[in-house]
Amino acid sequence: GFKCGIVGLPNVGKSTLFNALTNTASAAAANYPFCTIEPNVGQVPVPDERIYELAKLAGSKEIIPTQLSFVDIAGLVRGASKGEGLGNQFLANIREVDAIIHVLRCFEDDDITHVDGRVNPVEDADTIETELMLADLDSLEGRIHGLSRKVRGGDKEAKASMDMIERCIEVLKEGKAARLVDRTEEEEKTFEMLQLLTGKKILYVCNVDEDSAAEGNEYSAQVEAMAAEQGAGCVVISAAVEEEIAQLDEEGDKTEFLETLGLGQTGLARVIRAGYDLLELITYFTCGPKETRAWTIAKGTKAPGAAGVIHTDFERGFIRATTIAYEDYVSLGGEQGAKDAGKQRDEGKEYVVLDGDVLLFKFNV
Ligand code: GDP
Repeated sequence: GFKCGIVGLPNVGKSTLFNALTNTASAAAANYPFCTIEPNVGQVPVPDERIYELAKLAGSKEIIPTQLSFVDIAGLVRGASKGEGLGNQFLANIREVDAIIHVLRCFEDDDITHVDGRVNPVEDADTIETELMLADLDSLEGRIHGLSRKVRGGDKEAKASMDMIERCIEVLKEGKAARLVDRTEEEEKTFEMLQLLTGKKILYVCNVDEDSAAEGNEYSAQVEAMAAEQGAGCVVISAAVEEEIAQLDEEGDKTEFLETLGLGQTGLARVIRAGYDLLELITYFTCGPKETRAWTIAKGTKAPGAAGVIHTDFERGFIRATTIAYEDYVSLGGEQGAKDAGKQRDEGKEYVVLDGDVLLFKFNV
C-alpha cells in the first residue's frame, strides 16, 4: 500500500496527529523528545462520500472505504544526518515512505518545551529539511565511485544515473531540496531510483492552537507562504482538537460512521485527502448487494493493474472490465439504469481507469 510518513521536530504534535488519525492512544504523546522509537504505522480510511451514494443505490450490506497508511516517524532532530538522536534509524524510516507529512509547530504553549526554545515554523522546516539534504548529499556522493566504473564500461543506465546524481548534488549544494531538480517525464524513473529523502513529495501540516483551528494564525500564514513558494501542499489543523474529536467518536457507531464519511473531522479529513492527492492516487469502486468497496490505485493505472489490487488472480486472468462512471451510476439510478441508458462499457487491457469508475472484472481462473 501507499505510505505517508509523519515527520517534524520533537514536541510539535506528531504523535497527537497520528493518534487522531488512527483513533487510538497507542502512540503515547509525552512532553519529551524520543518518546516514540519504533515507527508506528496506522491504516486510515480515506473519506469519500461517493461510497455511501453507491451503497444506497446498490442496497449494499457492507461499506468498505479504501485506506491510506500513516507512519509516525518521531525523533528527527538537528544532527540526525550525522547520526545524532537515533538519526540514522529515522532517516531509514523516511526512505521507506512514499510522501512526507511535515508537522510544524504553530502553537504557543509555555508548558510544552520547544527544542529550540521559540516558535518559528519556517526555521523548523528548514532545520529538518537541512538534515534531509545533508543525508541526501552523503548518500549521493557515496554512490559516485561505484557508478563511475560502470560509466567507463559504457553502461547507459549508469550514465543516466550519474547525470541525475550530478544534477541533484548541484541543487542540494545550493541549499535546495532534490525535488526541485528540473527533469523530464522520461527522467522521472531515474530520479525515483535514487530514493532521495528530499525527492519525496511534501505536505506541510500547520499545528495551530485550538482558537486558530478554523482560520489559522500568523505562524501558519508564514508556512503557507513558504509552501506556495516551494510548490508544496499545506494544511492547517489543530492536532489537539482533532485528537479530542477522534476520542469522542469511539463512543458511538453513529459518530464512527460520520468519521468514515469525513464529517465533523474536517481537519483530519483534509490531511488524509491531501496525502491521497499528494501521492496522485485515485479511487475506483466495486459495487453490489453484498458490499460497496473503494480501492486505491495510482493515477494512470490500466484495468488489469487495477484488478490486481483486489487479487493477483484478477490481474493474471484479466479478460475485461465492465465500467460505469460514478456520475452515470448515480444520475441514472444505479447499474440497471446506467445499462439501459447505454452508459455501461466493456473495457480491455489498455483502458486507463478513471477516478470514480464503478468496475466489474471478468477474468479466467
Ligand atoms: P511529538 O513529539 O511531535 O510527537 O509531539 P506530541 O504529539 O507528543 O505533542 C507534544 C506535546 O504537545 C503534548 O503534550 C501534546 O499534548 C502537546 N500538543 C500537541 N498539539 C498541541 C496543540 O495544538 N496545542 C497545545 N497547546 N498543545 C499541543
